Amino acid sequence: MKINEIFYSLQGEGHYTGTPAVFVRFAGCNLKCSFCDTDFTSFTEMTEDDIVKEIGQYPTNHIVITGGEPTLQITASLVSKLHEAGKYVQIETNGTNVLPEGCNIDWVTCSPKYKAVRLQHIDELKVVFEGQDMSQYDGLTASEYRLQPCDTQDEGKNKEILRQTIDFILKNPKWKLSLQTHKILNVR
Ligand code: SF4
Repeated sequence: MKINEIFYSLQGEGHYTGTPAVFVRFAGCNLKCSFCDTDFTSFTEMTEDDIVKEIGQYPTNHIVITGGEPTLQITASLVSKLHEAGKYVQIETNGTNVLPEGCNIDWVTCSPKYKAVRLQHIDELKVVFEGQDMSQYDGLTASEYRLQPCDTQDEGKNKEILRQTIDFILKNPKWKLSLQTHKILNVR
């Protein structure tokens, strides 16, 4: 498997914000989002057992499989091995691919981008908001709906997007605010 990095930090976004987690960042993505702030091009080849072993050195049971786009590489056997090791597995995906048969992820966080969502099941729908038409997500069902203001790297624009995000949530209360708390706190 092509792994960009494995590191231990706090989950910064969404439902599990503040949870200590080991992040497994898979290399590669099938999309090219204008606001992407992740370096997912470089990688080390690791076997599933290498990954489980490296994760095992950290004290948390919460694992976040992320990318890039992790559904391009995730396997049911890696998830089974993590479960056998007592881990709880969250995946963060753009939702454009279906998960492999038997891939029993515990918590699916889907952040749709500009391409249609094909995922069979979503626990948390986390939309990065730049002012787009929100009706495009009406057909997607999840247990939780999170709206996260896009970080455009422009202070003025970010303020305006945050105002629009809060305004939308107040009018559509099934949505809750998600912030990139790791950026606010300046941790990884
Ligand atoms: S889907 Fe995610 S990782 Fe891929 S380009 Fe878009 S923001 Fe970056």
